[in-house]
Amino acid sequence: MKAELRRRLGFTLSGLCAAGAAVHALRGNPARAHRWAMLATASLLGPTLIPNCPWNGPVLRHLRTGEREVWLTIDDGPDPQDTPEILDVLARHDARASFFAIGHKVWRYPAAARAVVAAGHELHNHTWSHPAGSFWAASPSCARHEISAASNAIRQVTAQDPRFFRAPAGLANPFVHAAAAKAGLRVIGWSARGFDGVPHEPDVVVDRIVRRLHAGAVILLHEGPVSGLRPGTRARTLERLLGKLSALGYRTARPPA
Ligand SMILES: [Zn+2]
Repeated sequence: MKAELRRRLGFTLSGLCAAGAAVHALRGNPARAHRWAMLATASLLGPTLIPNCPWNGPVLRHLRTGEREVWLTIDDGPDPQDTPEILDVLARHDARASFFAIGHKVWRYPAAARAVVAAGHELHNHTWSHPAGSFWAASPSCARHEISAASNAIRQVTAQDPRFFRAPAGLANPFVHAAAAKAGLRVIGWSARGFDGVPHEPDVVVDRIVRRLHAGAVILLHEGPVSGLRPGTRARTLERLLGKLSALGYRTARPPA
């Protein structure tokens, strides 16, 4: 309800600013009209361009818990090299993770996708094609297609129904929120990430995550190749992270019901 109120307030603010721009334009004051038009644009675009911003709709960023537990999430797979290595590390640490999968990769690497489910983890929706550079401006039909095609791929390949959706880069406009809700998916963000989407040293990524750690943290990691990233780095990063979490008394939780 609070999220709906925020969304309505945002639209109302944009509408008032746009009305202000129109009034000043009609009165022959283009400088003021321009300022009000910029305010209208900013109030509309701002919530879309801030990762995990809840103004366009609810975004789950923390688990509600007082326990030392975290939700480990891994984006951008499945991947024929990284996914099996990651599953091995998770099994050795008796840890749980949710994999936010890209739909076309689920079709391309069905064995990796099925291995995730067979190991007791979950696959969720991270769009069909991961249009990270343009998704913030997704039209209603684009948002619907990206979300429904990915859900269909996950369902058909693994027989598992995704329950959560994460937007590329965490940027979700009002059409994306509407499409996710229509597909029965809750939008999730993150609260602790290590910026592992670029070439990195595992210890640096783990240190960044640990600095943001708290009870109920949603941890964001990635899998899949990145130019300049040595093979096996994803698994090494996860290994060190899980070792650190265990040393700090944290365990990985199941996704919320
Ligand atoms: Zn991603």
